[in-house]
Amino acid sequence: MALEKYKQKRDFGSTPEPKGDKPRKSPAGRTPRFFCVQKHLASHLHYDFRLEHEGVLLSWAVPKGPSLDPATKRLAMHVEDHPFDYGEFEGVIPSGYGAGIVMLWDRGTWTPEVDDVDAALAKGDLKFTLDGYKLKGSWVLVRTKGGYAGSRGQEGRSWLLIKHRDDWSSGELDIAEFAPLSVKSEGDFADILSQDNPAIWRSNRPAQGGETGAMFDKIIAQALEMRAAGARESGSGTRDSLGAEAPRAKAAGSGTRRRSSKAKAVKTKAAAKTKAAKSTKRR
Ligand code: MN
Repeated sequence: MALEKYKQKRDFGSTPEPKGDKPRKSPAGRTPRFFCVQKHLASHLHYDFRLEHEGVLLSWAVPKGPSLDPATKRLAMHVEDHPFDYGEFEGVIPSGYGAGIVMLWDRGTWTPEVDDVDAALAKGDLKFTLDGYKLKGSWVLVRTKGGYAGSRGQEGRSWLLIKHRDDWSSGELDIAEFAPLSVKSEGDFADILSQDNPAIWRSNRPAQGGETGAMFDKIIAQALEMRAAGARESGSGTRDSLGAEAPRAKAAGSGTRRRSSKAKAVKTKAAAKTKAAKSTKRR
C-alpha cells in the first residue's frame, strides 16, 4: 500500500513525525501483528486507531475513542495509511497537518479473525482480536452505508468500531476516562508538552476557543508550570520557564518524575479496578 497521501499532507522539515521510508514486511494470515491507538489533541480531540497490514498502518480516526460497551458503536473515519514507524510516535506536532499533541494511548497486537484481510476490508466488515494494555478481546470495524449527517463527499470513509461481547467487554467502564494516560511515557498531554516546547503555541494554537481551545489553554498552562517547577527544583537558575531552549533532561526535572509516579499509581489502580470489575461480572 502506498503512503503518498501521508507524505503529501506533511512537511518533514517542520514535523517530528516519521517519514515512513523504512519498508516493513508484515505477517500474513491469522497472525498477530502490531496495533496502536494514538490519542491526538489537534483541532479536535480524537483517537487514531491503527492496524498493521502489508507494511503500513491502516488508520481510522475515532472522535470519541473506543468503547468497551458492545451497545456503543463508535464512529471511525477511515483516513490515509500511516507508516509502520508511526506506531510508536508520541510527541508534539508544532504546525501544519495534525498540529497538536500525540499520545501513545494503547499498543499491542491484533489478530484478524478472517483469512483474507483485504477481502474483509473491501466488504467493509473486519473482525479481529486485540491484545493491548487497555483494549482486548474481539472487535469489529463495519463500514456504514450512506455515511452520516454532514459526510458529503466522505462516502465510504465512515465506519463503526464495535466491541463484541466477551470477557473484555464492559457496559460500565469508560476506558478512555478510566485509563487516560500514555502507555509509553505514562504521562498525560501536559507531561508530553512539557518535554517539548510548551510556549510553542503562544500566539497561534491548533484550536482557539470552544471546548478544544479550553483544553489547549489548560494543558499549555500546566506544561509551563511543570517546566518552571522543574527549573526551580533543579536549581539551575536559568530562566527557561517559557520553554525556550532548555535541555530536555534537565527541564523535565523532578516535578515530572513525581507526576510520572503518580501517573503509574493511577494506572495500576485502573488495572486493579478493571480486574475487580471482571471478577464481579463473572460471579
Ligand atoms: Mn489524528
